[in-house]
Amino acid sequence: MRLSTKWNQFETSIFSIMTQKAIAAGAVNLAQGFPDFDGPDVIKKAAIDAIMGPMNQYAPAPGLLMLRQKIAKFQQETKGLSYNPDTEVTVFTGATEAIFCTMQALLDQGDEIIAFEPFYDSYPASAHAAGAKLIGVPLSAPNWTFNPAELAGKITAKTRAIIVNTPHNPTGKVFTEGELKCIADLAIKHDLLVFTDEVYEQLVYGEAKHLSMAAIPGLTERTVTMSSTSKTFSMTGWKVGYAFASPEITKLLRSVHQFTVFCTATPLQAGMIKAFELDKSYYQELRRDYLGKRDLLVKILHKNGFKCNAPDGSYFIVADYSAISNKNDLEFANWLTETIKVATIPTSVFYTKPAEVREKQRYVRFAFCKGESTLLEAAKKLEVLGRSP
Ligand code: PMP
Ligand code: GLN
Repeated sequence: MRLSTKWNQFETSIFSIMTQKAIAAGAVNLAQGFPDFDGPDVIKKAAIDAIMGPMNQYAPAPGLLMLRQKIAKFQQETKGLSYNPDTEVTVFTGATEAIFCTMQALLDQGDEIIAFEPFYDSYPASAHAAGAKLIGVPLSAPNWTFNPAELAGKITAKTRAIIVNTPHNPTGKVFTEGELKCIADLAIKHDLLVFTDEVYEQLVYGEAKHLSMAAIPGLTERTVTMSSTSKTFSMTGWKVGYAFASPEITKLLRSVHQFTVFCTATPLQAGMIKAFELDKSYYQELRRDYLGKRDLLVKILHKNGFKCNAPDGSYFIVADYSAISNKNDLEFANWLTETIKVATIPTSVFYTKPAEVREKQRYVRFAFCKGESTLLEAAKKLEVLGRSP
């Protein structure tokens, strides 16, 4: 029996690996980005009611119309962007499926897509499935900025799209207006598509402001804006994501979606209708809570020998551990999980050339989407690092 080798280059996702290692070692899991608390009960209740309702058969493939209407209204209120729920909004099974379908629908064999690295791990895999190649443009610490000339230099005749993730996983960077305009100018100049991954759009702190590429003049028609309820409503296991695009592009996205999953779980979509009815104070409270968690984890990390800045967005902190160890990041993350009992994510896996990055960079990612008691438990375990030798 001959098996395809097409996917051999892709290992098990680092998120699954580190969570399994955390469980096996009995470590505090600050690795995989999922909250160890749930979103509001009203959302759960609405899904339970839908199940008992009954709303247990296939939803329309593009998503329940009422949910699409709520999502469009939310987009209008938060970003001033108008999308028609009938023709320009689609519900996907998580942003992961939206990213996958977008790449299958809009990239062809031999195309190149540019992503800022480190990048979310599904991007190269989704590009690969479409026969396209992901080209990395580095973000440089400590502010994770990119060099515009380097970005421009990576654009070739094969480049079809640029994917922008803001707020950014893993660095927590929130792209500035100037950076987004620079990307937009290049996209227009070279007639490129722009895919944006905005799943952490509600998680921005202090002066930082989340801006959407689609709001930039000349970009709306060439941009697929993707987001998810996973982070905003702390329900990562529900996998209810969505995307906005022009009617022409949406038609293509829906063509792939209908043969990928056909539709997203109906009662969970019904639950999320209630989520988008939550009062504005919900989002303020969410940000306030996460700000407290961020500051607590930054303090814990500084106290115990890590170097890091407080991120402007997302629920991740990338920390430099070079003052603690000279192990590469895979070895360090394994040691931290197995010996210190705190699990993190090695960041080299988020690059096009992980082996090269592993030689020179000393960063691991911590997730702070955890209850205070979890963060304090991690603090206790990390204390041994903080004690001078
Ligand atoms: N993009 C980024 C940057 C992420 O961190 C995640 C993590 N879940 C996703 C996409 C996927 O989101 P979803 O859970 O909605 O599939
Ligand atoms: N987005 C989450 C993270 O970055 C994990 C998602 C997943 O496990 N697929 O940790």
